Amino acid sequence: MGLNDSSPGTMRNGRGLSDQWAESVVVRPRTTERHITVHKRLVLGFALSILTLIIVTAVAVVLSIRFEECDGQNREAAAGGSGSRGSGGSAKLNGSRGERTGERGDEEAAVQPWRNLRLPGSVRPRHYDLRLAVYMDNFTFSGEVSIELECVNATRFIVLHADRLEVDRVTVTAEGGVGGRPNNRPGGGVMRVHRHFAFPANQMYVVVLHREMKPMRVYRLNVSFDAAIEDELLGFFRSSYTLQRERRYLAVTQFSPIHARKAFPCFDEPVYKATFSLALRHDQQYTSLSNMPVESSSLPDDDGTVTNRFARTPRMSTYYLAWAVCNFTYKETQTDGGVTIRLYARPDAISSGAGDYALHITKRLLGFYQDYFKVQYSLPKLDLLAVPKHPYAAMENWGLSVFVEQKILLDAEVSSSSYQMELTMVVVHEICHQWFGDLVTPVWWEDVWLKEGFAHFFEYVGTDFLFPKWNMEKQRFLTDVLHEVMLLDGLSSSHPISQEVEQATDINRVFDWIAYKKGAALIRMLANVMGQPLFQKGLNDYLLSHMYGNAARDDLWRKLSQAMRSEGRDIDIGEMMDRWTLQMGYPVVTISKNQSEQLPTRYITISQEHFLYGQEVRNSNNDSLRWQVPLTVAVGNMSTTSLQSLIWINNRTETHRIALMGDNTWLLGNVNQTGYFRVNYDLQNWKLLIQQLHGNPQIISVGNRAGLIDDAFNLARAGYLPQGIPLQLIGYLPEETSFLPWHAASRALYQLDKLLDRTEEYSLFSDYVLKQVAARYHQMGWPTNGPGSEGSVLQASYQTEELQRELIMLACSFGNKQCHRQAVAYISDWISSNKNRIPPNIRDIVYCTGVSLMDEDVWEFIWMKFHSSSAVSEKKILLEALTCSDNTFLLNRLLNLSLTSDLVPEQDVIDVIIHVGRNPQGRNLAWRYFREKWDILNARYGEALFMNSKLISGVTEFLNTEQELNELKDFIQSSGVGAGPALPRALEIVEGNVRWHRLHRRQFYQWLRKPPSPALG
Ligand SMILES: [Zn+2]
Repeated sequence: MGLNDSSPGTMRNGRGLSDQWAESVVVRPRTTERHITVHKRLVLGFALSILTLIIVTAVAVVLSIRFEECDGQNREAAAGGSGSRGSGGSAKLNGSRGERTGERGDEEAAVQPWRNLRLPGSVRPRHYDLRLAVYMDNFTFSGEVSIELECVNATRFIVLHADRLEVDRVTVTAEGGVGGRPNNRPGGGVMRVHRHFAFPANQMYVVVLHREMKPMRVYRLNVSFDAAIEDELLGFFRSSYTLQRERRYLAVTQFSPIHARKAFPCFDEPVYKATFSLALRHDQQYTSLSNMPVESSSLPDDDGTVTNRFARTPRMSTYYLAWAVCNFTYKETQTDGGVTIRLYARPDAISSGAGDYALHITKRLLGFYQDYFKVQYSLPKLDLLAVPKHPYAAMENWGLSVFVEQKILLDAEVSSSSYQMELTMVVVHEICHQWFGDLVTPVWWEDVWLKEGFAHFFEYVGTDFLFPKWNMEKQRFLTDVLHEVMLLDGLSSSHPISQEVEQATDINRVFDWIAYKKGAALIRMLANVMGQPLFQKGLNDYLLSHMYGNAARDDLWRKLSQAMRSEGRDIDIGEMMDRWTLQMGYPVVTISKNQSEQLPTRYITISQEHFLYGQEVRNSNNDSLRWQVPLTVAVGNMSTTSLQSLIWINNRTETHRIALMGDNTWLLGNVNQTGYFRVNYDLQNWKLLIQQLHGNPQIISVGNRAGLIDDAFNLARAGYLPQGIPLQLIGYLPEETSFLPWHAASRALYQLDKLLDRTEEYSLFSDYVLKQVAARYHQMGWPTNGPGSEGSVLQASYQTEELQRELIMLACSFGNKQCHRQAVAYISDWISSNKNRIPPNIRDIVYCTGVSLMDEDVWEFIWMKFHSSSAVSEKKILLEALTCSDNTFLLNRLLNLSLTSDLVPEQDVIDVIIHVGRNPQGRNLAWRYFREKWDILNARYGEALFMNSKLISGVTEFLNTEQELNELKDFIQSSGVGAGPALPRALEIVEGNVRWHRLHRRQFYQWLRKPPSPALG
């Protein structure tokens, strides 16, 4: 799945599950007391004949079983209907019953596989025949599924998943042996169904048979059911768009991770792979799509419906099944290998060519991945479907990947290069999943990072294939992935990347930044340790061995170790990687030149400890974590550098000999920042590195320049380094000509800005930043190409444009007067000429600066443009610009309009609140608004992946006073129950902010008041 920073929320709805499920229980409940009195009366009344007594007793025993079962069902329904879907809580109901039941009842009470959170595994699906009739006029559908099952262990129970489905009829037949031999017995092998019922607590459906199914035999389960086409973004859901002023509807699926069960009864765990044959019946005015091509299509019936039958899929997991019913049009292309790629979208988007770019790169990417993995794309076609609403950026359904429009439609006229880059990476990500995910699927959700980490890593590798000049994997990866996730993973509230998941409600939790970004960073580190040819060889072997199946992380480690051994390199990849995947956090590696007399020179001491921002936690937890750290070290002086080979650090402290080291040579660890750790040095070495950067920065690689900046700021923030070191280090920035170090610096500076912008001495800080920025900013100037000019975004020289943009952003946000004048001039020109001549790449900066500096009329002008604009990317930045005003009345109005009217798209409301919070004038407002509206916000976005945590971190990250910390604690105590890991994380961050002020602010400003000369005394 693609991450979406601006993903619309999955709404929590108020459907009365309890009523619905109570009705679907087959037998009405009765109490045990009543059963006992009935029993006594029977015994007394018919005691005349012993024969009769025996018969009656037998009847009573049967009845007692029935009554017990009914009683149990009543409680099951109650447990599930209490609103806590999937919340377990059912295990304790197990114990108290069974004493009065007969033998069979006992057995059933002891073994009730539906009470386990996971499916029992006694039967496995082999094939699903799914027939659906879709009614777009009333948004319902009815279905029949026929599942071919293989019995693994003898059992009377078929337990599978179903949620929000109204099950109508259930039949089971015995089909024969596993070889598929047909059953010719009289009666057609019909198995008598004892009863069937829903167990909503675990979103399961249970079929109990009269007699056991036998291992190695095949059975067929038929279920017919009805359901609604959901109004929220999961299962089989609907959305709409307008075409020529007419509202049109479409319906599409989102099954990952656990929503296939909302569309048909199925074994909804990734390991139960099966083949699927789907038939869809719907009104003839609609088109339907699924994973596979249409095999046959019926002529319209009398009622105007058609039926499309889709070809049988390969073996796959339920959550990759997909279908859509819409009246979109498409454009198509073909790969050299004959795979048809189509892009489906709103007819107006197709005719304007907005899908052409994605179609073009998808074709190239299929070729790229086939070459890289040396495994062909598995299906005859790949459809890309652009939908107006989707809970994620995109979803990689096999052969039918679904994208939210903003992540696949590109209007080259008005799109900035960062919009294009984001879109490109989403496409690269989803296409990678066709192998890592669809073809080979993680066994269980604890290893979701196996697919998401790979897809995220390949976003950079695949984009480099498309645009080699962008240099994504060597550069942008560092700031956007590595630096970003090390911020989170340096908190003591972080968690290991492989995390245990059992409950359905916990599964959403595993799709977080740690899985995506740390996953990608670890894979990149591993690829660099192995070297690309061996890494590729291992992946190829892994994919071939597990294609159409599932794999766990150990399967991957085994294949990669084998690849290494084939070249005579004996590294146990599993042993190494377990340290990184099963432990949370990462180490800081400290390199010091040996000062002691006992060891000869040229020896260095290297130590590792768990990097944590919180000094208190650090000191108290005794630092027991160790990693196997692949450390690369370079030594250099003013004019040369040389790379030492890889040193493995396994212990707390080690001593190593560095051959080329002299008194005035510096050491640099983690060459090109390929490793997932931070590096610290003795102060003398920091000074040598800083001198190097001031004197001749090019000697150190771009990646390491960015890495030094990020490490220095974060080490200082956590108290490992004096506050002056990072400030002194960025004193070299006037010499810096590359984008990446600037980007790393600006990220760190904005972090500090949030801490400092309400302090009295703030101007000391902003003046220092402006001093570093001024020369390069004036040299680069402003972009000249207006929209629609030659050299469209597709050809953009990304590095130059991005650097220019970064400098303008720094200059304008820290208060460079010339930058302000330029932005105001652009806005005035727009208003007076009604022509927007602002280059797309910097529109967000100009709009925001204009709104913050100019009067209320400009705010109204932007508000009006927001309403009239139709380009999705433009709309978004206009909306964000409105949050830049320093007029709290306007900000308040915007917040209220966002939440209560439909003027602001639902998925953007959260961004509005966060952006108001980023505005120093809006901070208190956003923080108060968030607390006041928490119930509404949590109800709306609580279940959406990322949304809640994004909102919580967005409005709390700038809190940094004791009073704000207390407000946050009060809020957590009164309202924060059940908000997941975001609130504890926010608390830790705010505590860190307050601590920084207490411990470090004075030193920080002291340095700024009297910076030492670059020569460093
Ligand atoms: Zn993904």
